Amino acid sequence: MKLTFCPLFSGSSGNSTYIATEKTALLVDAGMSARTIAKALRMVGGDPAALSGILITHEHSDHVRGIAQLCKQFAVPIYANRATFEAMGETARLLPTNLARVFETGHEFYIGEIAVRPFATPHDAAQSVGYALFARGRKACVMTDIGYMPKALLEEAAGADVMLIESNHDVALLREGKYPAALKQRILSRRGHLSNPDAGAAVCALAHTGVRRFYLGHLSRENNREELALNTVCTALENNGFRPGHDVGVTVAHRDGPTELVRV
Ligand SMILES: [Zn+2]
Ligand SMILES: [Zn+2]
Repeated sequence: MKLTFCPLFSGSSGNSTYIATEKTALLVDAGMSARTIAKALRMVGGDPAALSGILITHEHSDHVRGIAQLCKQFAVPIYANRATFEAMGETARLLPTNLARVFETGHEFYIGEIAVRPFATPHDAAQSVGYALFARGRKACVMTDIGYMPKALLEEAAGADVMLIESNHDVALLREGKYPAALKQRILSRRGHLSNPDAGAAVCALAHTGVRRFYLGHLSRENNREELALNTVCTALENNGFRPGHDVGVTVAHRDGPTELVRV
């Protein structure tokens, strides 16, 4: 068991995923209050004071809400590209300068023993990224808030031992729902969020590259249901000759607390 992976929170109310080896512990995003995240982390056996870094996907508040407090309270460095730090505004200005670490999208770097590869994602943010993380011969990937799935993104996640992928909305629920037209359009656009069928197609493509453990994340409270996301993705897998629950694991990441932790 070389890499621990656990979504702590997932959805538009806040996102954070815990990824750790024996020596290095990271969060991808910290979009709930510091106190809430610290509590969730302890629930799954982690320690906020032992975090080596928090990796930011993009500046939307459901991804960065807790970072200033976590950074200050536990002296944990925050990693993002320059455009994201700039777009964070006041949140970034609250960070001690020595703990704000700037990376370049597409350039790999190390935090402790984990190699981190940030890659560009299509979303309506300054310069959003997903992450591929490598340690001890294992690979994990976090890919959320993506308008569509270009081939380059499938290649970034190929062969991961475990990954979180967005499965944001059911298209019919969104179209018929009560969101304003402009917001519907934004979500459906190529810089919005990934639908259940798009997630299903991506999961199948990735299962063909060897990915065997998926968490479906960032489900819309208004425009999705856990069973809709799960059924759509599992049906797509079955149509591709896989047996979900047997040869491919698919779990919906919880909105309000830690989901079942996996060690790969
Ligand atoms: Zn989000
Ligand atoms: Zn976003």
